[in-house]
Amino acid sequence: MAKLTILGSSNAIPSLEQENTHMVLETESRTILVDCASNPLVRLERAGINFQKVTDIILTHFHPDHVGGLPLLLMDMWLLGRSAPLNIYGLHYTLDRAESMMGLYSWGDWPNFFQVNFCRIPADPLAKVMDNDELRIYASPVKHFVPNIGLRFELKRQARNLAYSCDTEPCSTVFELSRNVDFLFHEASGDFSGHSSAAQAGDVARSADVGELILIHYPTGPLASGDLVAQAAKKFSGPIRLAHDFMVIDL
Ligand SMILES: [Zn+2]
Repeated sequence: MAKLTILGSSNAIPSLEQENTHMVLETESRTILVDCASNPLVRLERAGINFQKVTDIILTHFHPDHVGGLPLLLMDMWLLGRSAPLNIYGLHYTLDRAESMMGLYSWGDWPNFFQVNFCRIPADPLAKVMDNDELRIYASPVKHFVPNIGLRFELKRQARNLAYSCDTEPCSTVFELSRNVDFLFHEASGDFSGHSSAAQAGDVARSADVGELILIHYPTGPLASGDLVAQAAKKFSGPIRLAHDFMVIDL
């Protein structure tokens, strides 16, 4: 059994009901957190997931709404006695900065800190992030203001695939990552540089022939405007949903 839980679905400006976009994928042997908004500990707790069970963290890019919660999450894991090692994956650009950020907190001086393995991903299309008997994860560079990756998850036992565009303008690598997936999580911040609109997400969903489009990382609360599902539906005739916090996708 595997499931994906959305811990946050908002774009960079969160609202009362919706935290910045981040999510967690649970399989039998791994709990993989994708990005670290705010303090993921509280979100994981509300989702009924023990945060100490997180085995891996993938950091997509070094923007505060995606990595700002990392120092506090690591500190809380340490304060509550974690001993299990933790893997953190990302581009060189991202992990160099994540390590520098932790250095500013002098984490090297925190006694008995658990082992953290920084796993650097090459900035190549369909670079393999993880490959075990349960799942394969690919990352590809996408088009944002700073180096960033989109992700494709292939669950071998369930024979189900999903993709996450992350923050990006429409580009060929997002299309490749999304090809024939059962679920495409695509951002819908708007039609401006470094981002995509709901209609553009619909374009990707149609050309990649995905099973279902789930719009995420969109303006929320007082900044929400327009019917994003209707805008995407002009381009993609399959099922479309808006992601919301604590949405669960059983895989
Ligand atoms: Zn960003």
